[in-house]
Amino acid sequence: MIHKFTKRANMMKPSDMRIILTAAEQPDLISFAGGLPAPELFPIEALKKASEAVLTEDGPVSLQYSPTEGYSPLRRKTLERMEAIGIQANLNQVMITSGSQQAIDLTGRLLLDEGDTVICESPTYLAALNVFNICNANIVDVEMDENGMLMEALEQQLQENPDAKFIYTIPDFQNPTGRTLSLERRKRMLELAQQYDVLILEDNPYGAIRFSGTQIPPIKHFDTEGRVIYMSSFSKIFAPGLRLGWICADELIIEKYMAFKESADMHSDGFAQRITSKYMEQNDIDAHIEKINATYHDRCHVMYECVNQYFPEAVSCVKPEGGLFVWVELPDTINARKISISCLEKGVAVLPGDAFFATDSQSNALRLNFSNASEDRIIEGMKRIGEVLHQEIRT
Ligand code: PMP
Repeated sequence: MIHKFTKRANMMKPSDMRIILTAAEQPDLISFAGGLPAPELFPIEALKKASEAVLTEDGPVSLQYSPTEGYSPLRRKTLERMEAIGIQANLNQVMITSGSQQAIDLTGRLLLDEGDTVICESPTYLAALNVFNICNANIVDVEMDENGMLMEALEQQLQENPDAKFIYTIPDFQNPTGRTLSLERRKRMLELAQQYDVLILEDNPYGAIRFSGTQIPPIKHFDTEGRVIYMSSFSKIFAPGLRLGWICADELIIEKYMAFKESADMHSDGFAQRITSKYMEQNDIDAHIEKINATYHDRCHVMYECVNQYFPEAVSCVKPEGGLFVWVELPDTINARKISISCLEKGVAVLPGDAFFATDSQSNALRLNFSNASEDRIIEGMKRIGEVLHQEIRT
């Protein structure tokens, strides 16, 4: 093959995760490896009605090029959703993106020069790490406990990296750990960001997927000076295939984002935006989210109980209050990557946790997704993982 790849492209290798996720697409495999919503909950009938209405009422405009910042009625609806969780913003502070993945990617282009420092949770969302790596950023990570990033460790990193650009955090039901940043730490993180003059990138695709406990206001709620760039998504509350997310930030920052979005894809799918907006006009999306949350609550509970019942005692796991993932820590002596291969041989796909670390990897953790399998399949899959783990401990 002849190629003239950039240095950047040459650095990128196919990830093992992609191999596992591809394997996870085999129909008879029980997959806890991805982060896919439950497809049976997609509101197909309501979406048929909404699409029909868009085509009938809006006609060709719905298929025409449209504004980079997004379809105004949808932007207004995202404003309302944010207001309900304590974020005050105006229309010029919201831009629709092609999923929140694009929001992260645009952030990389907007804020990161080569060698710039980003401070992340350890572990964190793999595809955000990929973006920061493509930008050749210097990624430093901060240890977490059950209540999210440790603030003393964060302050130490801020002292050691005085030119850091931003802190990347997933405050609710973090991917991969399912952990939620406590209220005190949210306030403290903002204080530290002010003190050391860094931005905060608050990536919150899972906030609405809370099925127990009480909601904690986003960090953006406490932001009075435009220091927090907030992003969220319709993927988990509606349908990821429509590829719709949004960014909420200071107007000048949104304007800059728009310049980058224009060169990326001009605008997010205008038809999908109109359908989503129409759906929200015709239906109560919060009632739909409640249905999703009730299902995930039960699936999460079943998965957690299976950890207790089928996994060796030395395994530890904290039950999340929302989101899509359970994080399981195995005894130190067990290599999760090896376990994931044995599980695949038994027809179950799981993700080893080491993929989610920017620097020092933890080799004994598994990320298990509970949203995409029925309770019966969760039980069957967890029994098989349990057998693999018991076998590994015995040998
Ligand atoms: N951020 C986090 C933390 C995620 O887990 C994901 C994917 N589930 C995304 C962003 C991107 O999601 P989407 O592009 O579908 O909105």
